Amino acid sequence: MPVPLQTLTDRLSRAQQAARAAGVGAMLLTPSPDLRYLLGVTAASHERLTCLVLPADGDPTLVVPRLERPGLDGTPVPELGIEVADWTDNEDPYHLVGDVLRRQGSLPGRVALGDAMPAAHVLKLRGAMPGSEQALASPVLRELRMRKDAAEIEALTVAGAAIDRVHARMGEWLQPGRTEAQAGTGIAAGIVEEGHTEAAFVIVGSGPHGASPHHDVSDRVLASGDVVVVDIGGPTASGYHSDCTRTYSIGEPAAGDVTGTYAILQAAQDAAVAAVRPGATAAQVDAAAREPITGAGFGDHFIHRTGHGIGLEVHEEPYMMGGNDLVLEPGMAFSVEPGIYLPGRWGARIEDIVVVTEDGVRRLNNRPRTLTALHA
Ligand code: ZN
Ligand code: ZN
Ligand code: ZN
Repeated sequence: MPVPLQTLTDRLSRAQQAARAAGVGAMLLTPSPDLRYLLGVTAASHERLTCLVLPADGDPTLVVPRLERPGLDGTPVPELGIEVADWTDNEDPYHLVGDVLRRQGSLPGRVALGDAMPAAHVLKLRGAMPGSEQALASPVLRELRMRKDAAEIEALTVAGAAIDRVHARMGEWLQPGRTEAQAGTGIAAGIVEEGHTEAAFVIVGSGPHGASPHHDVSDRVLASGDVVVVDIGGPTASGYHSDCTRTYSIGEPAAGDVTGTYAILQAAQDAAVAAVRPGATAAQVDAAAREPITGAGFGDHFIHRTGHGIGLEVHEEPYMMGGNDLVLEPGMAFSVEPGIYLPGRWGARIEDIVVVTEDGVRRLNNRPRTLTALHA
């Protein structure tokens, strides 16, 4: 479902307000989740410059290569009344960006660039506008993107239900005698079948591989007694992502310490989710996950932050970690995903996406969080 035009108009004007508050004269955004958020445009970034020029005061202009201009038909850009400035291959688009800003007044003292803008564009923009200090756009845009509206929460809820359906089918793929890679191929197809546009990542960490949080898949053969970490997700048609981890065992776990250690992890994940509410800080959520794990002597084996925001990107603000005093507000959505990793042996992680509500928290992933034995 397309984002309503009024929503995009509101986002553009709120982005301008936030830019003014941050002392930024203009934002320059190449194709990225930021551009999708503000314009509803999903264009890919190429070596030719496409760039939204959004002055803190004044009208936005979209700079595009002339050959890409027909691609704007059917996007919200014409309906939003955004001016389009096109350029041909014998023109310099970076000077065009400067000219667009000069037409609005003078070149700003400070411009904010999308965080993932290719360095080739960054340096050429600097060359064209040497008097304008370059800064990152994320401190400005995160103020908008962190606070999801009802339609965004609904899109994340749909994504959460889709990935839950994949986890519900895990017994089809995690079978003794198959490799992680073979299981992963089936899981990736399942991710698409259950309502994603692609499988963005498939982690099947069996046995000792489970102790590496960002392992993907390998030729290791799944065997009876293995503990297997499965962390999967992808984008849905709305652009909003899923991301969910469950830990399985093939039959009964072989190692004698799995059941007791897993119970500590599950208590930690529950405690962290229970700590989520308006007014709590991101650091408090992280601490709530860490305390039971550290108290049980596994503190050195929980080697990453507790969670990350999610939306049009899998990893975005806000990050649940020590030192982040950000105060949670209704509409913020992020993962809660503590893990315990025992190098050379096995690992486990439990990950749900949660959303802050008016008076607490709602989980968007709802599969059982116990260690699930398959083919027992
Ligand atoms: Zn991760
Ligand atoms: Zn994950
Ligand atoms: Zn995650």
